[in-house]
Amino acid sequence: MPAPASPRLWRPKRLLITRAARGFAHGRAMMERAAALGTTIVELPGDRVTLDLPGDGARAYADAKQTLAVVVAPPSKRRFQPIPPSADWRVDLAQGCPAHCSYCYLAGSLTGPPITRAYANLDEIVAAIPNHVGQGKVTSRSRARADEGTTFEASCYTDPLAIEPVTGSLAALISWFGDTNLDAQLRFTSKFANVDPLLTLAHRGRTRMRVSLNPALYARYEGGTARVADRLVAMRRMADAGYPIGLTMAPIIAAEGWREAYGGLIADVAAALDGATGVDLTVELITHRFTEGSKAVLGSWYPGSALDMTPENRTEKRTKFGTSKQVYDTTTMKALKTFFYDTIGERLPAARILYWT
Ligand code: SF4
Repeated sequence: MPAPASPRLWRPKRLLITRAARGFAHGRAMMERAAALGTTIVELPGDRVTLDLPGDGARAYADAKQTLAVVVAPPSKRRFQPIPPSADWRVDLAQGCPAHCSYCYLAGSLTGPPITRAYANLDEIVAAIPNHVGQGKVTSRSRARADEGTTFEASCYTDPLAIEPVTGSLAALISWFGDTNLDAQLRFTSKFANVDPLLTLAHRGRTRMRVSLNPALYARYEGGTARVADRLVAMRRMADAGYPIGLTMAPIIAAEGWREAYGGLIADVAAALDGATGVDLTVELITHRFTEGSKAVLGSWYPGSALDMTPENRTEKRTKFGTSKQVYDTTTMKALKTFFYDTIGERLPAARILYWT
C-alpha cells in the first residue's frame, strides 16, 4: 500500500495564544510548532480571544478559518458529556475545524466566527478521564460493544487530525490511552490523512481511527480536506500499524446517482484493505440532516453550494432537547439503509456496523 503522495497539512495563517494558555507547556509547544511552520504568532495580553481583522462576509469567514486560538478549556470541559450512539463520553481537545465542508455539523453547534480553539490544558482534560471510566451508557452498557470498554470520542467538536500538525494533542491522547490499564478506548474520526506521526505510537490497540468518507462525487462539498483516496491509504496504514479502524460514512447524501457513488466508494474501501490481516473494522452510518439554524449559517458561509437542503424527501424529527431537525423521509431512509447494509455485507463481510442514524 503506497504512502499518500502529499498528505495535506493545515498550517494556520495566524495563531493567537491567550495569557493563561502560555502558562501551560502544551500551549507553548503549539505556539513553537506553529512558529516553526511560518505562522504569525499573536500573544494576547489577556484571556479573551479577539480577532481584529478588516473585512466581513467571505473575507471574515476565510480569516477565521485560517486562525488557531490556543486557549485554556473551561472547567466544564472536564465534566464530559455523553455522545450516543458513537461513544460513552465526548472528550474535546479543540473546538472548530479549518476545513470547509458545506454540510458541517459544527455550523449548528458552535457560535461566532469559525476560529478553531485548541486547548492548552490537555493534562487537566486527560486527568478527568479516569473519573468517567465505567460510568457511560453507550458502549459500557452494550453487550455487542463491551469489548471497547468505556469509550471516549475526540471528534465531536473538531477534526483532531486536521489540526494535529500544530497541536500534537491527538498523539498525546493516543499515547495516554496506550499507557493506561483502564478498560477504556479512544475514538476519533477524520477527513484528513496525515497519520505518519501516529503510526509508531505505543497505542496498544486502544484507539480506533475511523475515516470519515463520502464518494468523490461529493468532493465539492468537502473543501480543504484530504482526498478520499489519501484517506483510504491512511486507514490502511493505521490498520497495518495495529490500530482498530473504522468507516464513518457521513453524511450520507441521497443525491442523484447515490447508489453508484456509494457502491463505488465501498468497493474502494474493500480494495484499500485487500490483503490486510487481522483487521478490526467497524462502520458507522450517519445520514445527512440539518436544522434551520445550521442551514442559515451554512447558507451564509457557502452561498454557492449545490448541497440540497430543500424540503424535498425530508421530514421533521423532534429531538429530546425540544428542537427539530430535517432528516430524510421514511421511503428515502429505507432505500438508503437497505442499500448500505446489503452492500457492506457483501463487500466488507468482516465489518461490524455499529449503528444507523
Ligand atoms: Fe466540519 Fe468535519 Fe468538514 Fe471539519 S472535516 S469542516 S469538522 S465536516
